[in-house]
This record gives sequence, C-alpha cells and structure tokens, in this order.
Amino acid sequence: MNNFTYVRASSLSDAVNQAVADANSQFIAGGTNLIDRMKVFLDQPSQLIDISRLQMQGIETMTDGSLRLGALVSNTAVADNSHVRRNYPMLTRAILSGASQQIRNIATVGGNLLQRTRCPYYYDTAFPCNKRQPGTGCPAIHGINRNHAILGASEDCVAVHPSDMCVALAALDAVVEVTSPQGQRQIPFTQFHRLPENTPQQDTNLQPGELITAVILPPLSWAKSGVYLKIRDRASYSFALISVAAAVNLQRDKIQAVRLALGGVAHKPWRATAAEEFLLGKSADITTFTAAAEIALESAQTLTHNGYKVELAKRAMRRALMVSVQGGGVA
Ligand code: SF4
Repeated sequence: MNNFTYVRASSLSDAVNQAVADANSQFIAGGTNLIDRMKVFLDQPSQLIDISRLQMQGIETMTDGSLRLGALVSNTAVADNSHVRRNYPMLTRAILSGASQQIRNIATVGGNLLQRTRCPYYYDTAFPCNKRQPGTGCPAIHGINRNHAILGASEDCVAVHPSDMCVALAALDAVVEVTSPQGQRQIPFTQFHRLPENTPQQDTNLQPGELITAVILPPLSWAKSGVYLKIRDRASYSFALISVAAAVNLQRDKIQAVRLALGGVAHKPWRATAAEEFLLGKSADITTFTAAAEIALESAQTLTHNGYKVELAKRAMRRALMVSVQGGGVA
C-alpha cells in the first residue's frame, strides 16, 4: 500500500470540493473493496476523503411514495428495513445473498455501487489488464474465463460486475442521486454503470468529483412478489455465476408489467428489456417464460469456459419468473 493523506470531510460540500482539488483522491466509507485494492496497489490514491460521518445514513419515505436510501446506510440496514422487506423483497434477498454478515454491516449503499470486478487477472498484477492499465491487453479472453461475461463484453474486457444488490436495483428502476460542486443530478440506475467498450477502466458514468448521496426506489406496489435467485459455486460468501431479479404483475392471468435483470453476465447489471417487452400481455406460463429467456440470451457470446452460463441463465430466469407469479418467496 502506498502512502496517502487521510482527511475527514466536515460536510458534503467539503467532501466534493476536496475531491475536485485533488484529482487523485478517493472517497472512503466502508472501504470493504477499496482497502483490498489499495493493499495490492490497484488503487493508489494520494488522499482518502473519509465521508463516513456525513449525514447520509437515513432511509426515508418520500411524499410520492418512493424510498430514499442514504448513500451511507449499511447493506445490513437496507436488507433489514421493514419497508424494503415488505415492498422490495428482491432487494433484501439480493443483499443477504452477498458477502458475509460482517461485510454487510460495514459496506454502504454507495460503496456497493462502486465495487469493482473480481476478475482474478485484474487483481493479480503479474498479468496485464486493460481495466488496470489501458492498452496492455486482456488475458481473460484466452485464459481462464469461467466466470466472465456472456453479454455486452468487448475485445478489451470481458469482466462481470460483482454486485447482487445492484441487480435488484436495476430491476426496480432505481435512481442514483449524486452531488458535485456544480450541484446535484440524478442518474437512472441502468445508466449508472457502463459496458466496457474500449474504455474498461471506467466502470461508471460518474464525473470527476461526483459523490453518490442516495439511491431512490420508486413506488412499485406489485414488486412485493419480487424474487432474487442467485446461482453460485457454494452456498455462501461467493459471487454469482448467474443471478436473476424478477417481479411479475398479473392482471386476469396476463402479464401487465414485469421487471427482469441479470447478474453475473455482463460488465454491468443487465436489464433484460427485450424479454420484458415480449412478456407484456402474455400468459404467465413456462412456455412464455422459456421464450422470454431465449430472447434475453439471444445476443450471448461465449468464451472457452463460460458457455454453461447461457443455459444456466435461461433456466434461472424461468424459475425466478415462475416463483414470482406464484407470489414470490424463496426461489
Ligand atoms: Fe482485465 Fe477486464 Fe480482462 Fe479481467 S476481463 S483481465 S478486468 S481487461
């Protein structure tokens, strides 16, 4: 770990002004991924700006019925929140399926969005990596790529986004609120993370100096039957090979609305919009769900070791959708 300066932000404006003043500074709150990266020299900030004591720890119901999660709320507090458990159960299930209790207790909402891929080549500095050092190459493409992307990848990077929580947030049409010295703006969740294209070093569309202040969940009464299904190598403390966040709204046995997102398949949480459009107005049965899964994976491209993900994703989607129409619960 390199030497760095540590400062504690006294206010939101102090935090973003300090970030702008030193372009090589980084915000720290829970630090559960950042410190790991610093230990192996992936991140070498000149300054850490501690934002952990700023007033962004609240969960509030807004007048329009949306739920505002402060950026510093712990993952545990979000998962345990009674409003979240009742109205957005896929979010509780997604959070509880990730990491460990200790990590969830310290990891924050904002930090969860900013965690970086766990591609082993990225973490092993003996290998080149376009995400770590642009232009050096991507050894995963012809290397061990069992965990890598099948959708939206590029010739420069085939990494996947590691978060479970973000898959549920993508399905729930969340909005990310960010602040900078120029003011506040909101970013639709599906536009917050980026596909790798030829700049895999950039995971998000955040601008320099911007700080996440909250994530907002719009009201979605029928998301009570939402499901999060995670397929992984072992039952706990393991990243998703494939995950699915799904919620279906039925009216007279026809699908009136649906939300569907996949994890473990792409550089960002993958909203399956074409499959959602296909499902509207159809009967909620296994034939329909099988066809929707085919559409969702239509553009999949596989590498040497990750071909299994295509069929796994289709089956996981079918199962998550079926469980949702049966009222939700454990998928
Ligand atoms: Fe680096 Fe991305 Fe290739 Fe992994 S997949 S080695 S993160 S460029």
